[in-house]
Amino acid sequence: MKPRVTVVGSLNTDLVIKSPKLPKVGETVLGGEFATFPGGKGANQAVAAARLGADVVMVGCVGSDAFGQRLREGLAAAGIRADRVRVAPEAPSGFALITVDPSGRNTIVAAPGANFHLSREDVLAAREEIFASHVLLLQLEVPLDVVMYAARLARSRDVRVVLDPAPAPAQPLPGELYQAVSVINPNEVEAKVLTGIPVSDERRADSAARRLLGLGCEAAVIKLGARGAFLATASTSEYIPGIAVTALDTTAAGDAFAGALAVALAEGTDLPAAVQFANAAGAVSVTRMGAQPSMPTRDEVLALARSRGLAI
Ligand code: ADP
Repeated sequence: MKPRVTVVGSLNTDLVIKSPKLPKVGETVLGGEFATFPGGKGANQAVAAARLGADVVMVGCVGSDAFGQRLREGLAAAGIRADRVRVAPEAPSGFALITVDPSGRNTIVAAPGANFHLSREDVLAAREEIFASHVLLLQLEVPLDVVMYAARLARSRDVRVVLDPAPAPAQPLPGELYQAVSVINPNEVEAKVLTGIPVSDERRADSAARRLLGLGCEAAVIKLGARGAFLATASTSEYIPGIAVTALDTTAAGDAFAGALAVALAEGTDLPAAVQFANAAGAVSVTRMGAQPSMPTRDEVLALARSRGLAI
């Protein structure tokens, strides 16, 4: 059976400038190439999951402008069900301003616009799709109460919930949210914000992951950039190394990772193998520019893994 994933999350248009360096406060940098890409962590993860072979439903909100229409059309073209993406007449579509330096590092500022108009009613309207999913995939670019509502709704029917807690929240996340989460997958920055523990080495990654389990998640997967990821459950801890590639643009590596993790879990893959698959998806994505266009297919992920002698 095809894995089924529902994403409740954001859709943005990314405005990307390649720059010789990332600007400091007050500095203007003369950049290079400019391009626009469909983005938003929710939509990126939906595209990642679809490219990797899942049936995907996207629940989100765009403005009644040409950008919003293009975002919905883009999802549909990627084979994603986009009829649960509401068009809100009262807000502009979401945007993100992204700078990328020659080593692929980035800075991002997002204007959420219509993403913050996503409501519990929108989630409730998609309940049958959520109940029919193997995994519900969430991030923090839509209102927190909507994220919590979706997580609780999914768990009420034993649908697994994967939370990418990005961007790092300004306030601690409510205990109720952690308790509804099957797998949380922060990057190093988010892990530090959520736990107070700087993830500087394996031992500290383990401590941070244990704290997230203590808050109520069933499993914690801390993404470690090029180094890979650290996985912890009540019974295991495991460092799963990344796959060395030449990084061109790390934008949305975490989205490729989250989409892949969700697909593998939806297929019934065990957690260590799912993280290995997600590492490979993240690695392929950093070799290409942009967010959604850089999301790998299943064949690309398997080819990279095979070329490095990894059994996935
Ligand atoms: P985020 O994009 O959410 O900040 P990371 O930067 O940790 O998260 O990247 C997510 C995942 O993508 C990593 O766990 C790893 O699997 C993969 N990845 C990221 N950067 C690289 C890289 N330079 N080389 C290989 N894999 C990478």
